Amino acid sequence: MTKEKPEISDATKKKMGGKTFEKNPIKGTKYTIAISSAKGGVGKSTFATNLALALKQIGCKVGLLDADIYGPSLPKLFSINGKPESDGKSMTPISKYNIQCMSIGFLTEEQTPMIWRGPMVTSAIKTFAQKVNWNNLDIIIVDMPPGTGDTQLTFAQEIKMDGVIIVSTPQELALQDVKRGIKMFDKLGVKIIGLIDNMSHFMGDDGKKYFIFGEGGVEKTAKEFSKEFLGEIPIDPEVGRFGDLGKPIVESLPGHKISKIYLNLAEKIKSLYN
Ligand code: ADP
Repeated sequence: MTKEKPEISDATKKKMGGKTFEKNPIKGTKYTIAISSAKGGVGKSTFATNLALALKQIGCKVGLLDADIYGPSLPKLFSINGKPESDGKSMTPISKYNIQCMSIGFLTEEQTPMIWRGPMVTSAIKTFAQKVNWNNLDIIIVDMPPGTGDTQLTFAQEIKMDGVIIVSTPQELALQDVKRGIKMFDKLGVKIIGLIDNMSHFMGDDGKKYFIFGEGGVEKTAKEFSKEFLGEIPIDPEVGRFGDLGKPIVESLPGHKISKIYLNLAEKIKSLYN
């Protein structure tokens, strides 16, 4: 993968009120792609882990940074119980399924609530970006906290990101927040790679599609904001089951129809940076 970083356009700088932020790239990787959602519970972490596994399967060297400080999912989704090694200055990511992983959840007890204020969160995120020995990666997938609050904003301002994928369900309630998210990333000059419709529908035994959360809302929102629609991922109980087992579906069943959706998407993401 060759590296060519896009400059922030003059139009974007103008939108940012003429300000440019000091954005530091994460050391040890060529590209950083964030996975964001406006609301919790739409499948952001499930998506981030499966996309990371799909990118690995097509030959990329991948890191996974769980930056969801308040609700880390990576320890559970990858069944990681150990703590990262540290020399007091930096930490070594934990390698699982041939992916370099880091999460605040590796450093805390499973049921400890994270009652941190903004500055502590910012400092934790900076530590993850700058003091982790990511080793020679093509891509780091960052599982962002949900929403458009201070944490999200600070993260987007402080770390050089090459793109963000926004995950949503097609429900009106989620889409409202997606629109806020799109505006925030546009304003911050973070490139939106596209939108994903997760849990788009359920395929019944009768062969019919059931649109549990409504139909087509994510694609419509993408069009409304001239963003790319990256496709849909149906509801499938196997996705949840393998997540709970700590070995996501793309790793457990690479031939499954859901895994194939992730592999196609991974090819698309890889091609963006070739
Ligand atoms: P978030 O990170 O947005 O809070 P999670 O990734 O934790 O969301 O997913 C929320 C729940 O939805 C989990 O139980 C997960 O297994 C389930 N889930 C996510 N995507 C799918 C899908 N495509 N089909 C079925 N269940 C899914």
